[in-house]
Amino acid sequence: MTGNAARLDAVASVIDRVELPKGVDFSAEPTGDLFGINTFNLAKMKEVLSSEAYEKLIATISDGSKLDISVADEVAGAMKDWALSRGATHYAHVFYPLTGFTAEKHDSFYDPAPDGGAAISKFKGKTLIQGEPDGSSFPSGGLRATHAARGYTAWDPTSPAFIIENPCGTTLCIPTSFVSWTGEALDKKTPVLKSMQALDKVARRILKLFGHESIAHVSATAGPEQEYFLVDKSFFYSRPDLMSAGRSLFGAAPPKGQEFDDHYFGVIPERVMSFMYEVDRELFKLGIPAKTRHNEVAPGQFEIAPMFESANVAADHQQLVMTVLKKVADKYGLACLMHEKPFAGVNGSGKHVNWSLGNSTQGNLLDPGDTPHENAQFLVFAGAVIRAVDKFAPLLRAVVASAGNDHRLGANEAPPAIISVYLGDQLMDVFEQIKGGGATTSKSKGVLNIGVDTLPELPKDAGDRNRTSPFAFTGNRFEFRAVGSNMSIAGPLTAMNTIITDSLEYIADRLEGASDLNAEIQAVLQEIMEVNGKVIFNGNGYSEEWHAEAESRGLPNLKTTPDALPALTSPEVVEVFEKYGVLSEVELESRQEVYAEQYCAIINVEAKLAIEIAKTIIYPAAMRYLGELSSTVAGVKEVGVTPSTAILEEAATLTSSLESAIAALESAYGSVGHEPTSWKDTVLPAMLELRGVVDSLEAVIADDIWPLPTYQEMLFIK
Ligand code: ADP
Ligand code: MG
Repeated sequence: MTGNAARLDAVASVIDRVELPKGVDFSAEPTGDLFGINTFNLAKMKEVLSSEAYEKLIATISDGSKLDISVADEVAGAMKDWALSRGATHYAHVFYPLTGFTAEKHDSFYDPAPDGGAAISKFKGKTLIQGEPDGSSFPSGGLRATHAARGYTAWDPTSPAFIIENPCGTTLCIPTSFVSWTGEALDKKTPVLKSMQALDKVARRILKLFGHESIAHVSATAGPEQEYFLVDKSFFYSRPDLMSAGRSLFGAAPPKGQEFDDHYFGVIPERVMSFMYEVDRELFKLGIPAKTRHNEVAPGQFEIAPMFESANVAADHQQLVMTVLKKVADKYGLACLMHEKPFAGVNGSGKHVNWSLGNSTQGNLLDPGDTPHENAQFLVFAGAVIRAVDKFAPLLRAVVASAGNDHRLGANEAPPAIISVYLGDQLMDVFEQIKGGGATTSKSKGVLNIGVDTLPELPKDAGDRNRTSPFAFTGNRFEFRAVGSNMSIAGPLTAMNTIITDSLEYIADRLEGASDLNAEIQAVLQEIMEVNGKVIFNGNGYSEEWHAEAESRGLPNLKTTPDALPALTSPEVVEVFEKYGVLSEVELESRQEVYAEQYCAIINVEAKLAIEIAKTIIYPAAMRYLGELSSTVAGVKEVGVTPSTAILEEAATLTSSLESAIAALESAYGSVGHEPTSWKDTVLPAMLELRGVVDSLEAVIADDIWPLPTYQEMLFIK
C-alpha cells in the first residue's frame, strides 16, 4: 500500500470506527461505589488486622514514625488474602526509577507443590518488605556498575498497595523505594519521602512557636493537573514520529488552529467523553480522587486533575493516572499523548503541581484566612516559600528540565524559564506593607455584582489569576506550573520540600532565639522581602519587558536543559540536600548525569527518526508527485512545477547535514553522544531546518499523495 492510500484509509477507518468498546457496563456499578475497591486502604486494613498491628501501621502512615517490622508478617498475610479474593495471581513491587517511568517486577502467588500441583506461596513479611529486582538496566548515573547490579526495593507503607486489572488476570502492586546495595537512592520515591520527613520536623518547630500544644505530623500535599492530547490511533500508527518520539517532527500548521478559542472548556466530544467516564471509573477503583476534567486550549487537548493528597501518594498516583490515561485511550481507539509539545505551533501540555503543607490539627498551613496581615503563622510559611524559590530558582528550573519541556517553557503558552513568584494583589499588598515596616490591613475580598438582577452576587477572590507565572499563589497553595506533562512530579516535589525546609529552618532558628516573637517575625519577613523580594512578580510573564526587568533584577533565565542541569550539583544545592539527608552529592551527580544522557538520547532518536521519515516517506511521495507532474503538459514545459526539484535537492542536502551532525557527536562522545550542549547547538537546529523544507513540501504536494496524517486530521477528527 502506498503512503497516501494508507493515510486516506486511516481517515476512513476513524469515521467507521467511532463506537464504544464492548464489555463496558457503566450501569452495573455506580462510579461512587467503586472508590478504592482495588486498594488495600486503611478501611480494609482496619477490618482485617489486629488492633495492635493496625495502630502500629497507622503510627507509620499518619505520624511518620518508624515502621515496626513485627507488623509486616500480619500485614503481608492480610494483603495476600485480600489480593487473592480480588482474583490476583501475581504480586509486584512497583518502583520509580530515574527514567521517570514506573517499573514493576511480577512474581506469581503460586509455587510448585511437592505433589506436582501448585500451592499458594507463603507471602511473608519479608517478601512484602524487601524485593530484589535485577536493576542493572536502570539508569544509575554511575552509582552502580553493571557488574554490581544489586538493587533492593523496600515497601512503602505510606502509599496503599493496589490491584491492576487485566482481562486475563489481576496483579497486586506494592509501591516501593528502590535503592542500591550501598544504600543510594536509585529512584524518585526515596528522596520524596526523605524530604517530607525533613519538612515535617521543621514545620512542627514553627507551629510550636505559635503556641500550639497538639501538633500532628505535617505532610506536604500535592495536587497535580495533567494536560494531554488525544489522537486517533489510526493516525498515531501512521506517524513513526508520534509512535517513537511522542511528538510530530514534521507537519505544517493547519489553516484553522486554536485561534477561535473554541475548544477551551468547550463541549467534550462524545467518544472523548466516554473515554473520560471510564478513566474516572478506573481511577476511582484505584482510590485516586479524579475530580475535574475539561477541554484544554488546543484542539484535541484535555486536562484531568485529581484532588490533592499527601505528596508521596500524589506522586505515585500521578504515575498511575498517566498509565490509566494511556490504557483507556487505547480501548477507545485513541492514543494519549503526554509529550510536552506534540504539535509545533499548537499549545503544548504541562502539569501544574499544586503544593501546600498541613496536618490534622492546624489544617492547611498556607490558608491565609480573610485577613492575612493578622495571620502571622501563615505569613511565616508564605515567606519561607518566597525565600526558597528565590534562593533556589536555578534548582527549580533544573528539576523541570527535559528535551520535551524545552519546546514549551518560554513559548508564550507556558511560563517562561525565568522562575518568579506570583502573590496576587492581596498578598502582594500585605508583603509590601511588611517591607515598609509592618502590615496593618488586608484588601478585602468583596462581592462581584454581575449586573443581572436574577443572578446571585458572587464572592470575589482577593486576587485575580495569573496564567503566566511559573510559581503562583492560588488562594491556599502554591502552584508550580513549569512541570512538563510527561514528567514524574517526584523531582519537583523533592526540590520544593527540601528548599522550603531550609527556609523554614532559617526562620525557626531566628524566631526561637528571639525575646519578642512578633518583632522578630516582622524583622525576618522584612529581611526576606528585601533580599528575596526580587523574585516576586505579579505582571505578565510573557512580555518582553519582564525578560528585561528580570535580567536587571538578577534573576536567572536558564532557557534550555543543558543550561539548567548543572544547577543540580551547584555547591548550594548539594549543601541543602545533604543537610537534610535528602540526596547526597553522589546521588545528585548521578541524577545530573542520567538526565543529561536522557536529553542527548531523545534528540538522537528524534534526529534519526526525522531522517528516516524524510528519506523513506517524504521523498518517495514527492518524487511520485513530481513524476506525475512531469508527464503533464505544464510539467513538460517546466512552467510552475511545484515542488521544484530544487526543494527536493535542498531537503536532501539538509538530511545529509543532519546525518553528519549526528555522526560527529556520536564519534566524539560514544554512541549516546553524551554532551547536551552540542546536541542543542548542532543537531536541534539541523532538524528544524529540515523540518522547514518538509513542511513547505506539505503545502504544495497534492493532498491525495501526501503520506502523513496532517495536523488538521490529527487535531480535529475525534
Ligand atoms: P485550577 O485550574 O484553577 O488551577 P483545578 O481545580 O484544575 O484548578 O486544580 C486545582 C488543584 O489544586 C487540584 O488538584 C486540587 O486538589 C489542588 N489543591 C487544592 N488544595 C490543595 C492543597 N492544600 N495542597 C495541594 N494541592 C491542592
Ligand atoms: Mg492550575
